[in-house]
Amino acid sequence: GSKSKVTVVGSGNWGSVAAKLIASNTLKLNSFHDEVRMWVFEETLQTGEKLTDVINKTNENVKYLPGIKLGKNVIADPDLDNAVKDANMLVFVTPHQFMEGICKRLVGKVRGDVEAISLIKGMEVKMEGPCMISNLISEQLGINCSVLMGANIANEIAVEKFSEATVGFRDNREIAEQWVKLFSTPYFMVTPVQDVEGVELCGTLKNVVTIAAGFVDGLDMGNNTKAAIMRIGLREMRAFSKLLFSSVRDSTFFESCGVADVITTCLGGRNRKVAEAFARNGGKRSFDDLEAEMLQGQKLQGVSTAREVYEVLSHRGWLELFPLFATVHEICVGRLPPSAIVEYSEKKPRLS
Ligand code: NAD
Ligand code: 13P
Repeated sequence: GSKSKVTVVGSGNWGSVAAKLIASNTLKLNSFHDEVRMWVFEETLQTGEKLTDVINKTNENVKYLPGIKLGKNVIADPDLDNAVKDANMLVFVTPHQFMEGICKRLVGKVRGDVEAISLIKGMEVKMEGPCMISNLISEQLGINCSVLMGANIANEIAVEKFSEATVGFRDNREIAEQWVKLFSTPYFMVTPVQDVEGVELCGTLKNVVTIAAGFVDGLDMGNNTKAAIMRIGLREMRAFSKLLFSSVRDSTFFESCGVADVITTCLGGRNRKVAEAFARNGGKRSFDDLEAEMLQGQKLQGVSTAREVYEVLSHRGWLELFPLFATVHEICVGRLPPSAIVEYSEKKPRLS
């Protein structure tokens, strides 16, 4: 058959690493075109140069992934419509808050037979209830969308340290195998799981747990307390996912997207780092401030996800069932002090 063309929509820290992974494979595998297009949200650097021009000149995303060559077959493109128009496979990897706008711009612009995958950890909350990002993409663009989540701190994968990941798919195993082929390398081991909602909810909800773990670090509470927060967080992740989608499987929480992602982000993630600083400052500096100062343009997902989860919990009358999720949001908005995260944990858990 004809070769598939791959476009990556997004070029942040993980987006750039995803493009590098994919580009190393499209060169080797006959079923893909060598070239990988990467849509770049254009910006002007302090030097006055356009980010896209610098990426195409140096083969590096100097702002979001400095020091790493992406592969000569990665072509940065600031024009969204042009970047997607010929693609057979679309990889979405932007901070989740931008996806609604991006989807609106893409209506009618993609091929009818295109397959999509979302690497985005987050959700939207609409009047009708929560909407996962893969679902937003499928519904707005009328295309199928799988997900890839996992214990994947981008900077570690960029230097080719071994990690695992999980592809979540709905019903087409062959398409899942295509994605596995496109992403797998000796240092990136991908497993397909037929539980798209479970995989995506794992990736999304663990960012709320990570914020809680960061608070624990900022309060110098130690390893046991942090492990307790991770355990309680995992339990709330599973309960929340199953309440939303009865199809979600327990086994998904033991894949890379579940427990492994909770662990790695609670140890080394950006959400953890900024939440620690928030707690050290006694909640006196806002997350927006700290994010801008500490992450140089990279974006946190956990604070907005905590708000989105809180909206769902309050609409459905579930706040009492999810004290950890609820408390994270209350701390983020300043209604409770960071120490409330531990005070809650000392109480009797309300979920079995
Ligand atoms: P990032 O945090 O580096 O975010 C910065 C990106 O957002 C840049 O590409 C920037 O150009 C873009 N941006 C800024 N304003 C924009 C706008 N108005 N519209 C569109 N784009 C805009 O991004 P990332 O690390 O690639 O994260 C993307 C997704 O991948 C997130 O959901 C994240 O949770 C997930 N993820 C990240 C990692 C990681 O280690 N970085 C690992 C796994 C998953
Ligand atoms: P942070 O956004 O907290 O760095 O988490 C990255 C991640 O999702 C690793 O799998």
